[in-house]
Amino acid sequence: MANNVVVVGAGVLGLSTALVLSKHKNLNITVVAKHMPGDYDIEYASPWAGANYFPVGKPGSSLQRFEKATWGELDRICREIPEAGIHHQVTRVYGRKKDAGTATAQWFEELTKEDAWFKNVVPNFRVLPKSELPPECDTGTEFTSVCINTAVYLPWILGQCVKAGVTIKRGILSHISEAGSFHSSGQADAVVNCTGLLASKLGGVMDNNVYPGRGQIVLVRNEPGVMVTVSGTDDGSEEATYIMQRAVGGGTILGGCLQHNSWESQPDPNLAQRIMQRSIELCPSLAPTGKVTELSVIRHGVGLRPMRMGGPRVEKEMIDGTWVVHAYGHAGYGYQSGWGSAWEAERLVLSIVGQGEVRAKL
Ligand code: FAD
Repeated sequence: MANNVVVVGAGVLGLSTALVLSKHKNLNITVVAKHMPGDYDIEYASPWAGANYFPVGKPGSSLQRFEKATWGELDRICREIPEAGIHHQVTRVYGRKKDAGTATAQWFEELTKEDAWFKNVVPNFRVLPKSELPPECDTGTEFTSVCINTAVYLPWILGQCVKAGVTIKRGILSHISEAGSFHSSGQADAVVNCTGLLASKLGGVMDNNVYPGRGQIVLVRNEPGVMVTVSGTDDGSEEATYIMQRAVGGGTILGGCLQHNSWESQPDPNLAQRIMQRSIELCPSLAPTGKVTELSVIRHGVGLRPMRMGGPRVEKEMIDGTWVVHAYGHAGYGYQSGWGSAWEAERLVLSIVGQGEVRAKL
């Protein structure tokens, strides 16, 4: 007998989870969401992401487990499915001692370690000698990472879901218990809650630990030739510099910032200037004349990362008589932890519908 599953949310978490679940032919899956791939909205984080694989999970945390598990799948997609919009990038991560204790340095603490836990996960990891560091930087590593063109990757996952028989619907829930009504059968045996930041406002969930982490980006046509970031800036604790070139003509993302608890949806033009100036200083190949005016801007953007105190929530809970598997709160790492999180949600859904344990991917 088929079991009915409703996934709420069509960001990277909702779509990845639906695709993983769709491999089980006895699950009849519907995805319902207010926003879909193609939309650009302040309530929808996924299109705004870079997106790359910059691991930040603390050793022993579930985030680290998800990040570790996700690398292999991103790498596989990169090698085998070029139309998914991911490519490999030579990556450089720099550290400045003077950033210790700032918000950005804390966020990047694991990423900037020379003895990083992921040194045997990603290929070609090496510690950079002093002679290869930019002025003002004290440490540095290089490795092969990936950069995802979100405008291609999200529709690709959506298409894979449709091909596997998943039903996709637009809808707005005011309470999680409404999820079943979006299934053609009118009820759900299990609901997967991938509502990201709006888990803070959804009836039946209302998670007070979830809050926005505002990120502002500039998307440009210029090509840096390398993916690069640094532990902090001289422009304030919440500002960051990262540069990543998206696959298949997706342009280059210049970031950014991590402004805790800001819901501001409009780009700040002064911050945009600082982002562009810092980017060409850190990566001169972006604009060989050294002038910001050499950057060819595609768009300015703002996205709100679904931050969560305590890390991502991937667990099951009975709400009003229906099992709900939560999978939200992936902050600035929903892409780099997405497949690992989806496999954990799969394990929980199968435990609910009585299909026991699945393969140990994690
Ligand atoms: P979302 O993408 O926000 O999707 C939530 C979904 O739930 C939407 O479809 C929404 O419509 C739906 N929804 C919510 N409430 C309801 C409701 N009541 N009824 C119906 N539908 C509802 N991550 C990385 O891994 N690497 C990066 O390099 C990276 N860079 C980033 C840069 C920026 C500037 C930003 C903002 C984020 C970045 N991230 C990055 C983080 C990443 O974008 C997020 O972690 C990820 O997009 C979260 O996905 P999600 O599916 O949980 O949420």
